[in-house]
Amino acid sequence: MLGIGTIAKKVFGTPNDRKIKATRPLVARINALEPEFEKLSDDEIKARTAELAKRADGGESLDDLLPEAFANCREAARRTLGLRAFDTQLLGGIFLHQGNIAEQKTGEGKTLTATFAAYLNGLTHKGVHVVTVNEYLAKRDAEWMGKVFGALGLTTGVAYSGMPEDQKRAAYACDITYATNNELGFDYLRDNMKSNLSDMLQRGHNFAIVDEVDSILIDEARTPLIISGPSQDRSEMYQIIDALIPSLTDEHYELDEKTRNVTFTDEGNEFLEEQLRARELIEEGMTLYDPESTTIVHHVNQGLRAHKLFQRDKDYIVRDGAVTLIDEFTGRMMPGRRLSDGLHQAIEAKEGVDIQPENVTLASVTFQNYFRLYDKLGGMTGTALTEAEEFAEIYGLGVVEVPTNVPIARVDEDDAVYRTAREKYEAMIERVKEAHAKGQPCLVGTTSIEKSEQLSAMLTAAGIEHNVLNARQHEQEAQIIAEAGKLGAVTIATNMAGRGTDIQLGGNVELKVLDALDADPEADPANIRAQIEAQHAEEKQKVLEAGGLYVLASERHESRRIDNQLRGRSGRQGDPGRTSFFLSLEDDLMRIFGSERLEKVLTTLGLKDGEAIVHPWVNKSLERAQAKVEGRNFDIRKQLLKFDDVMNEQRKVIFGQRREIMEADNLNEIVTDMREQVIDDLIDTYMPPKTYADQWDTQGFYAAVIEQLNVDVPIIAWCEEDGVDDEVIRERLMKATDELMAKKAEAFGEENMRNIEKQLLLQAIDTKWRDHLLTLEHLRSVVGFRSYAQRDPLNEYKNEAFQLFETMLDSLRQDVTQKLGQIQPMSEEQRREMMQEMAARQAAMQAAASEAADEASEQAEAAAPGFDENDPSTWGNPGRNDPCPCGSGKKFKHCHGQIT
Ligand code: ADP
Ligand code: MG
Repeated sequence: MLGIGTIAKKVFGTPNDRKIKATRPLVARINALEPEFEKLSDDEIKARTAELAKRADGGESLDDLLPEAFANCREAARRTLGLRAFDTQLLGGIFLHQGNIAEQKTGEGKTLTATFAAYLNGLTHKGVHVVTVNEYLAKRDAEWMGKVFGALGLTTGVAYSGMPEDQKRAAYACDITYATNNELGFDYLRDNMKSNLSDMLQRGHNFAIVDEVDSILIDEARTPLIISGPSQDRSEMYQIIDALIPSLTDEHYELDEKTRNVTFTDEGNEFLEEQLRARELIEEGMTLYDPESTTIVHHVNQGLRAHKLFQRDKDYIVRDGAVTLIDEFTGRMMPGRRLSDGLHQAIEAKEGVDIQPENVTLASVTFQNYFRLYDKLGGMTGTALTEAEEFAEIYGLGVVEVPTNVPIARVDEDDAVYRTAREKYEAMIERVKEAHAKGQPCLVGTTSIEKSEQLSAMLTAAGIEHNVLNARQHEQEAQIIAEAGKLGAVTIATNMAGRGTDIQLGGNVELKVLDALDADPEADPANIRAQIEAQHAEEKQKVLEAGGLYVLASERHESRRIDNQLRGRSGRQGDPGRTSFFLSLEDDLMRIFGSERLEKVLTTLGLKDGEAIVHPWVNKSLERAQAKVEGRNFDIRKQLLKFDDVMNEQRKVIFGQRREIMEADNLNEIVTDMREQVIDDLIDTYMPPKTYADQWDTQGFYAAVIEQLNVDVPIIAWCEEDGVDDEVIRERLMKATDELMAKKAEAFGEENMRNIEKQLLLQAIDTKWRDHLLTLEHLRSVVGFRSYAQRDPLNEYKNEAFQLFETMLDSLRQDVTQKLGQIQPMSEEQRREMMQEMAARQAAMQAAASEAADEASEQAEAAAPGFDENDPSTWGNPGRNDPCPCGSGKKFKHCHGQIT
């Protein structure tokens, strides 16, 4: 029986159907233009771009230009890449242009889809950023799609970490720029630490198309980008606290596995107070509730979390005396990423490795707030619908499900639930054996490195040759994934390993052609291609007959989206395929959320060893459990974002001010306003409203004026004059300081003076802002602790952050006014020295920031530091055509990079 909703959908269609239907006529118009554009010469295609750009310049809307632009782009892609874009790709391109997320399944050709929206929006030459999840993809896509843009007469660039500044600036100056989310975010932060406009890399934030948008805007959005520098060493405190943790018992704290949070009970608090007092970490007579204890409470908390919530080899690994995090979604190591707020140090103390100095934040931004900078944002992914609410709420992005080019023929089997993990794994190996025997390629998905290795060992024991993908290099990974569809291939991968590369049945023709040409450069490319295509067609046929790609998942992930990503690896472009999920009552998701009902059912059924329950009901209830976890995770991200929004508002103000200062020729007005404010504040302090002259602290006033304004005026006498009021004093102080500054300007020379003002202002802003960031961090942990007292932490945080910001601005004004009042004209030589010193300081700061960011982004990309010829894990990410780092003299791909 059909539900009312289902019947209604049949009659009226879903909102998504209606969006697609409404957009079809536009596609029809593009199609109708095809014959006209097919006839154009290569030069005429470029000329069309120029004409369209001119029309855009003249005020015609991009929407009006869309049909012609898309037709031109389709023709250019057909000529340069040999790919004629499907109608579904045009649809996707339209939705991107309209600022939506286009959900297009894996293998539907999203790379080309993006090109349409990028081209259309590139016509205004304001810059379009195409964002990828890793550098390998940024380079691959820029090279691949760069051919299309080139044929159209637009420029393409790629920005990656470690690139020389001027080259990177040039990449950002291109019409279309490919880059990773990390690089874009870091460049934004670095740009806002510069002191000259011409040093900045990014030209603005016009339009970004984010590929694998769910990865970037949801999974990665949990960790902000941070540029930081080391602070003082506090290893000892971490060690003392670490030693304390094992003495805590269950009644001292409560552990919430779901929210990954710990709280201390009253007993716990008492016990801790005693212990900490004995160790002189809190003073006699103080309690943990005193504000002064905030820092120590915070660190004890982190120590407990480190012990109880972080597992070695699951959440992190210890390698070469360092604690390296593992990405829970991809199972990859994340060298360079550190947990913040002393949590990483607490884990280091727990593992007894060297405790790295804590870092202080020089600049930071979340991806949410970075991507909200863009005037327009679009995204693509195979899996967005389950997170539609979050995209809408946080980014204002709608999700449109674009139909596949060919209907999906894949079979998704019901979940099979075993009693134990052992039975589950054994069943999986059996299935792989069966499939492998008939040549069906298998992709085995796991949720962690540990499980990958376990399954790999079992496959080896069963005598099945296979590849394991985890924590390796993107390029390598991409190559292996590209071959995972070959006849009889067996590949084990953590959830998103090799994302961005699709698995084609029978292997990847392009790769084979490149490799063959490489082995025999003299050969005729056309010949080779024909040969390989023939072989490939034969192999593909066999794989099709064997049933296409078989995806076996060893667990359900917390999020349905991640499961769908894995499923979507199979059945691309209408290929046959099959997916099965193997679960057990011992799985995390089952353990935390699984119903006792299920266990009862299993017992009632009296399952024998190795038997599983398979029923659609199981899928349903699991999906409900997942939806619950997803909702909870969304709430956590939302909460985090609310906190970050407070800082974001302030960051926007500061970055905006910096920019204005850099752009301004003359800052005299600004610094004069500042001085006026300082004078107002002095008067407010020393001549408070509604007071009389005899109540004023004229001595203090006099001293403060000398200190802050650097003028020695008879304040005491002025204040004793008959009828004197604040207005008179204000005017006299302004006059005295105006004269002082005028003298200085004369002595320095007008231009020098303007220059000094600029440098002083920027420097003061940077220093104050940095201190302020640290204060905000502390404030955050403090308000977290205060929630004990039933106050809303967010509100507390907002109010206090606002006050702190005002205080910072006050002290900034004072600082600048005071310094400007103190500068002395000097000899030519002194002056030169001073300017040099200033420049050097600025350069050093920049270098520190660049280094920090480069390191972070490089490490996020590459492997361990310390190159060792004999240890492939230290080689980073060698190009396929580079010489092999082992020193054999062979190309990497023919040596250690060879793919079996
Ligand atoms: P996605 O990112 O959607 O998973 P890709 O952009 O990586 O897909 O493309 C997958 C494959 O499909 C590539 O090998 C690409 O050459 C191919 N492809 C893309 N568009 C077309 C097209 N219009 N016609 C034929 N093949 C296409
Ligand atoms: Mg892709």
